[in-house]
Amino acid sequence: MSLLHHFYTRAVWPFFEPPMRGLSGRLTDLRRQARESRAEIEDRQWQSLRRLLQHAYDTSPFYRRRFETAGIDPARLAAPADLGALPPLTRGDLRDHLPEITSRRYRPEELLRAATGGTTELPMAIVRDAAAVAAKNGVQQALWEWAGVRPGAKVFWLWGAVADYAANPSWRWRIYERHIMRKIWAPTGRMNAEVMERYRQQFNRFRPDAVCAFPTPLFLFCEFLRNTGRPIVPPRAVICTAEALLPHQRTLVEQVLRAPVFEQYGCREFGMVAAECPAHQGMHVATSAAYIEYRAISASADAPYEMLVTDLLNYGMPLIRYQINDCVAAPPAAAGRCACGRNLPRLPAIIGRTSDTLRLPDGSLMPGVALIAALAEGEALGSAAPRLDKAQIVQEDLGQFRLRYVPGAGFTSAQLEPLRRKLDAILGTEIHWEFEAVAEIAREASGKTRFCVSKVGAAKAGPRQGS
Ligand SMILES: [Zn+2]
Repeated sequence: MSLLHHFYTRAVWPFFEPPMRGLSGRLTDLRRQARESRAEIEDRQWQSLRRLLQHAYDTSPFYRRRFETAGIDPARLAAPADLGALPPLTRGDLRDHLPEITSRRYRPEELLRAATGGTTELPMAIVRDAAAVAAKNGVQQALWEWAGVRPGAKVFWLWGAVADYAANPSWRWRIYERHIMRKIWAPTGRMNAEVMERYRQQFNRFRPDAVCAFPTPLFLFCEFLRNTGRPIVPPRAVICTAEALLPHQRTLVEQVLRAPVFEQYGCREFGMVAAECPAHQGMHVATSAAYIEYRAISASADAPYEMLVTDLLNYGMPLIRYQINDCVAAPPAAAGRCACGRNLPRLPAIIGRTSDTLRLPDGSLMPGVALIAALAEGEALGSAAPRLDKAQIVQEDLGQFRLRYVPGAGFTSAQLEPLRRKLDAILGTEIHWEFEAVAEIAREASGKTRFCVSKVGAAKAGPRQGS
């Protein structure tokens, strides 16, 4: 494995994927940084934060105005807490001020469009400079390494909805994906017994080293394996991300796949920012990638804390104090050293991001997380995306769905048409849609946000997703 890993790190990936150039050096740096003392880690992060803030102040008209209005001069910031006067960045800001947020230091053609943002909401545009893309790749590989998954490992992706295959059906692409990149995509858009049996057979032929999955479809797959008693070749590790991994899901996955589960936290806007280590005592934050603040959402003593995330790597489109819409139950304790030896701070347990599983008229299941992925995939909504502040999909009855939305500035109801067409393409035209404008879509009292709510036999359709 070790030779293969070096070969992939130094030759295969850099050859095929330009952002992977320099990966070896970045991984070495990140490994060393993770072992630094807490004080060194905090100091390094503070320097990165200051650099990013100054850059945003100097090159982004949006942030220049925000800083000046808040009376903040980044050059004079003494401590991270001084940043508290700066209003959080919202999805509405991203949507309404994208050109002004983007840094003037880059020509538009130098900025790469990231997968459209939002794992809990409707997608929106995010751009990154090339160095940020490369650095984020490095962070992702470093976090995967904690799960024992190294470059060159075979990975089975239970992921996405219609998947990249739909866009790249050629046999060349499939050979490239399977034999060079060593991955198989198993889209999670429609899960039923036939699809899951096909995945099981692909899985056993491929014999992956690791599984990377959305928790809900993986749970459905493991339920299928348990209920049918059909065999599966155990991988060495399972990585779960994109929605909250619930304790009963982890238990079943570990039992059925006979491999340890590693949770990772990230989102389309930022990429991966935290991951579980082999000690399984919470997720360590990749402090070189993100600076996270925690803020109580109300004055009540047991109120959850929302996270505000600053991207320390994306200079093309600075994201400062971004309201990511995920909450934690309590601010992080000044926890001691983790049993794994890393001093990187750990995230408190996250309570955000769950979605019910939808039961479609043909009997197949669509996990909410897959629906969100589908909205971001394929023929993207792009500039045709409706100007919505918030949205939520509610399944009232088998064929009766409702999209509740909070209209944003500049919204007209004609903007819903491309969205309706996209929903029809994903879920089928036998579903009747109702669009309902509402004043607010409240976060649940627990701090959860829920993009998909099903009132149809959800208990049978999948995990009840907690309280
Ligand atoms: Zn650890």
